[in-house]
Amino acid sequence: MTSIVTLGSHCALQVLKGAKDEGFKTLLICEKKREKLYRRFAFIDELILVNSFNEILEQHCIAKLKEQESIVIPHGTLISQMSSSEIESIKVPIFGNKWILRWESNRNMKEKMMLESKLPMPKSVSSYKEINGLVIAKRHGAAGGKGYFLTSSAEGYKKERDKLIAQGLIKGDDDLYLQEYAFGVSAYLQYFYSPINKNLEFFGVDRRYESDIDGLGRIPAQQQMSVDKISSFNVIGNSPLVLRESLLDEVYTMGERFVEAANRLAPPGMNGPFCLEGVYDENGQFTSFEFSARIVAGTNLYVDGSPYSAFIYNEPMSMGRRIAREIRIGKEKGELSKIVT
Ligand code: AMP
Repeated sequence: MTSIVTLGSHCALQVLKGAKDEGFKTLLICEKKREKLYRRFAFIDELILVNSFNEILEQHCIAKLKEQESIVIPHGTLISQMSSSEIESIKVPIFGNKWILRWESNRNMKEKMMLESKLPMPKSVSSYKEINGLVIAKRHGAAGGKGYFLTSSAEGYKKERDKLIAQGLIKGDDDLYLQEYAFGVSAYLQYFYSPINKNLEFFGVDRRYESDIDGLGRIPAQQQMSVDKISSFNVIGNSPLVLRESLLDEVYTMGERFVEAANRLAPPGMNGPFCLEGVYDENGQFTSFEFSARIVAGTNLYVDGSPYSAFIYNEPMSMGRRIAREIRIGKEKGELSKIVT
């Protein structure tokens, strides 16, 4: 019997609940420190206890997963805790396209994919000497927004950069990527693409609450000026959003362009869940600063379905359940090879 497995973090509850609802056995690779948490949930059939998630690369773990005919569902924790080469070397089928995860992790590849998708993007700024307006400085890799900062001058940049160096968070300029700040209302667009029925489903939208940047609005400007602190953009949680209906057509068009570009650049393409992340400006134009080529934690909002999944399914359909449904259909049709790598 096929088992659905994921790492105990990020969106594991949603993924395994969805898998159980679709009739799969569910396994969780669980760090010992989180055992107590995950034992609370009856839909998790088995915990594989590890000291660290990297054990998934070790023979004892692989053997166990193979024995249970496992399919691994990748999420943000897998990307942040393992290198692309490590993920690619996992000897168990991974849902979706594991090769595209490298395009998410590498900033240059990411930019190429977004340009190829014709997604409007904020311009990158090649050196702090070129700063001319508000920019966001982001650390490379999956820093999760920690140590990102805003500045509008070379002087301001150097001050913040030196603080990050002193804190040991970066070594120098090469560890920071500068991008024009995109003004507007943030929106994280969640999609699912099925290579089996060649159809794109728009699943939902969320906003992220990032600490401590989202808390700054509670402090009057005068007090903000008096605090010498680097803000950061560390995601703490998500809240729901529905878009004006007139924006929806473009939402689908952008998603389709992304799927087409991914097909060309990263075969076998953008299979399964993904997210386009950006802001809407005052004219309702979307500017995208990021994509995630796998399930995002913002989908945790919609365990019972979203205002958009309700138009596609006459039953509660979470993203986790949609993944499991795809695996079920893939198995029934003998087309599993289309949806795992
Ligand atoms: P990222 O690591 O690119 O996902 O960025 C983390 C957070 O920084 C995002 O969720 C946004 O809040 C913010 N952010 C990143 N890039 C930009 C940008 N170019 N303009 C405005 N906000 C941004």
